[in-house]
Amino acid sequence: MSFLPPAVFVTFGGKSNSNESSKRSIPQTIQLHSLLIYHKHKMISYPDQINNLIESFCKLPGIGRKTAERFVFYLIKEEKEELFQFADNLSKLHEANFTCPTCFNFSPRQGLCDICSNKKRDKTQICVVEEFHDLNNIENTKLYNGLYHVLGGKIDPPEGVTAEKLKINELLTRIKNNQIQEIILALNPDIQGEGTILYLRKLLLPLNIKLTLLARGLPMGGNIEYADEVTLANALKGRQQLNN
Ligand SMILES: [Zn+2]
Repeated sequence: MSFLPPAVFVTFGGKSNSNESSKRSIPQTIQLHSLLIYHKHKMISYPDQINNLIESFCKLPGIGRKTAERFVFYLIKEEKEELFQFADNLSKLHEANFTCPTCFNFSPRQGLCDICSNKKRDKTQICVVEEFHDLNNIENTKLYNGLYHVLGGKIDPPEGVTAEKLKINELLTRIKNNQIQEIILALNPDIQGEGTILYLRKLLLPLNIKLTLLARGLPMGGNIEYADEVTLANALKGRQQLNN
């Protein structure tokens, strides 16, 4: 049995007299068929190929179903060649995923990344970041000339990320085997980031090297990935020493 909800009439301006409103012109009286509202709550089913791609886009960070649908309906209109190129780029993503064995940054080749292999970089400083995109953002400030260490996340036990799953042991080995004079902790100022900073501070303080933290120009709960370059540059310049 199909359910058709009653039509809804909305009148703008004038008296609410029903006889008068029935005489109004179309722009004055707008008929909103509540069927539209009814449809909003109904799931629209797409062919499997479309649904599968929507589901794939939904897995990306920050992408909800509506945005995923917009992506898919944009792609449907694209030329076949464009779509093949898009699919080809996706399928080759893992092939190009070289990781620097020293700092765990992406590398364009097997072996050291461009930063670790650059002789002009200051080898006495290591800036510790959570992810590659944080490194990239700090690089864009053009204020830092030292090395990096990408932890691969932050300690977050409810999400199954323990200290052992991050590149913390590798960081300690790096510090012990090289002439490192300063470690800059550039982690996100959120609860997990703060927890990771405390954990690292405890491990690094006995090593007797300068330990600094980005100034809190970054808002609490903010993200280095999304910080503008001026805020990030100020945070870098105003970094605080943790062991003085
Ligand atoms: Zn590297």
